Amino acid sequence: MTWKITKSELDHHHLLINESLLSLGNGYLGVRGNFEEGYKEGEQSIRGTYINAFHDETEISYGEKLYGFPDKQQKLLNVIDAQGVAIYLDGERFSLFDGEVVEFARHLYLDKGYAERVIRWKSPSGKEANLHFRRFISFVTRELFAIDVKVAPIQGIEQVKIVSTVNGDVSNFVDKNDPRVASGHAKRLNVTDVRKEGNLSIIKDRTYTTNLEVVCTTTTHVDVDGDYVYERAVSDYAIEETYVASGAAVQFTKYNVYTDTLRHHEAVGTRGVEIQQQLQERTFDELLDEQKVYMDAFWKTSDVKIEGDSRLQEGIRFNLYHLLQSVGKDPVSNIAAKGLSGEGYEGHYFWDTEIYIFPVFLMTNPEIAKNLLLHRYSILDSARERARVMGHSQGALFPWRTITGGESSAYFPAGTAQYHISADIAYSYIQYYLVTKDEEFLKDYMAEVLFETARLWIDTGHFKDGVFRIDDVTGPDEYTCIVNNNYYTNVMAKHNLLWAQKVYERLRVDGTLDGLAEKLALSEADADAWLEAGEKMYLPYDEDMGIQAQDDSFLQKQRWNLEHTPKEKFPLLLNYHPLTLYRYQVCKQADTVLAHFLLEDETDAETIKKSYDYYEKITTHDSSLSYCVFSIMASKLGYKDKAYNYFNETARLDLDNTHGNTRDGLHMANMGGAWLAIVYGFAGVRVKESGLSLAPQLPEAWGSLAFHLRYQGRLIQVLMEKDAVTYVLEEGDALTISHKGQDILLDLGVKVRI
Ligand code: BGC
Repeated sequence: MTWKITKSELDHHHLLINESLLSLGNGYLGVRGNFEEGYKEGEQSIRGTYINAFHDETEISYGEKLYGFPDKQQKLLNVIDAQGVAIYLDGERFSLFDGEVVEFARHLYLDKGYAERVIRWKSPSGKEANLHFRRFISFVTRELFAIDVKVAPIQGIEQVKIVSTVNGDVSNFVDKNDPRVASGHAKRLNVTDVRKEGNLSIIKDRTYTTNLEVVCTTTTHVDVDGDYVYERAVSDYAIEETYVASGAAVQFTKYNVYTDTLRHHEAVGTRGVEIQQQLQERTFDELLDEQKVYMDAFWKTSDVKIEGDSRLQEGIRFNLYHLLQSVGKDPVSNIAAKGLSGEGYEGHYFWDTEIYIFPVFLMTNPEIAKNLLLHRYSILDSARERARVMGHSQGALFPWRTITGGESSAYFPAGTAQYHISADIAYSYIQYYLVTKDEEFLKDYMAEVLFETARLWIDTGHFKDGVFRIDDVTGPDEYTCIVNNNYYTNVMAKHNLLWAQKVYERLRVDGTLDGLAEKLALSEADADAWLEAGEKMYLPYDEDMGIQAQDDSFLQKQRWNLEHTPKEKFPLLLNYHPLTLYRYQVCKQADTVLAHFLLEDETDAETIKKSYDYYEKITTHDSSLSYCVFSIMASKLGYKDKAYNYFNETARLDLDNTHGNTRDGLHMANMGGAWLAIVYGFAGVRVKESGLSLAPQLPEAWGSLAFHLRYQGRLIQVLMEKDAVTYVLEEGDALTISHKGQDILLDLGVKVRI
């Protein structure tokens, strides 16, 4: 059961949610779980096909535009629609909203990497057939989206007609009432070419302003006993292929190959044709077998096995599967807040990547993690430019939300002001180094990112009364904006500064600093300044309460009365003016508590505990990025029930649509967070300069928990049972790790049971 997600609802509400849940993707290409044949008249669906990072730019219109506000916003586009397949039985068009649906189930196979619909349908006049739809987006040939449909008439059908369409005239979805979804600029693509070339159907679209091109090159094929008639019609924006066969069973396949100028450059057209040629001899089932091999390799190191709760088991696998489907695997792309599953947040990349998603890949598939860092490196120049616009004479300020580097946040208090993203990116580079010990990477990329982000802090902060302070920024909690000395920001900046100085010193001693120092016009004085600011960083603390203050003014404010806030007023952001929220002690999401997870050695255990107890009571978790952090920290503090309950909220957030907006796309950060709650929470994993440590505590409800970690070229299996923890080093050289403070040596293939 836990490898197969089954959904069979046909009501409007669930159809939209299931489009996200049953979406397919491979990090390059994504398609929502729409019905090939369409819906009933007037039924709204968010029909979508996306290419990671394929975007246009739209003007941002402000009521009052001030200096430095971004003019343009990037937007992930819904591209050419190749999903269309309509079926007619003796002239009656198949629809799940017409006639009689005798049998209907949809499945998503997490282990095999495809989705299917199994249907038995009777037309209004009584013609009956079995229909079997399968589709996948290939992990092996990233450009390929394949569909296969079997139509098996049951009785008395003389003719089966299949009409396949590819449509270049597409738009994005808009929702004017939700700030988390785009409110305009739906149509951003022109159809520039519609053509048949032999058996290929080719459509090309171009974006309005970025001049990016996307081409969909399609071939279709039928297998049928007996003759059939084939026709193809080309319009200004679409191609329609029609097969008319006798009443025997028909198998129809459609291979859609998507290429785009971001990856295929001037070969955007020819590359599609070449890929189609390579696919011509390959059957749908062969390609699916290949997909299975890829999935097997992924699950071998990435699966998390929970014994004792199949709902949570299903949840975590579902989340991991979707992360894999959405994460970019080339340096042009990253992972959007909603992945490739929907249009919420317009395909933008946020800090969600570094803090919530990157660690999952870092410790299971470090190559994918590396790519995420390379993407950030590729936008370092834009981050430098942005820093200049923001008045900084040095350093790099990464955009709060972006695709290719331009700041796309129009509401700066909860956008650009979240300077912490630059420290978050630095943090992920440091974690990458600690987990991989990749010295080349340190020299080639990490040093530059650390230096430039460290410079930003020097330029943003200032010394007063002997401490280094950072004013007017916003921390992760978006219900508290533009504050002085946000604890999270300051402590992350401190880490950034101290590591920048350490790396500078390392390269200087190794004699490998010169080229970079010259390129960045860096001197010893810079490194000294980083050290001093880092060491003297002000970290707000309230003596009376014994907690870290979220910022300088937070604890002076009134507390929001959460108990008396009606349920329908949540999320607060949709029901209160931001200024109202800013005036109160109320948190959208983990902020100080998150800092205590990421940099636990910066403060003492007592402060961590008291801070948790305090902030928990004023946190709404209106952001899906929150529960997982509270789960991790509850595990650390020994609050077993809380750790478990918060994990429960996290693990199935999309499957159960508990945030109510899964239709707009899946919550990728939360999906990563579910893994973090297991690995960093229940298993107590930490990666520090001192090495890898674990402090496992199995939730009482579970029989066992098992997962793998990749660490410094090793593959380690961890099995947590009620009475023991077992470690097996499956690949790599012997290694000492820490288990609840005790050193243990792992030798290749030897089980260590504690
Ligand atoms: C959260 C941010 C997050 C963004 C995208 C917002 O609701 O408050 O922390 O980066 O969603 O997921």
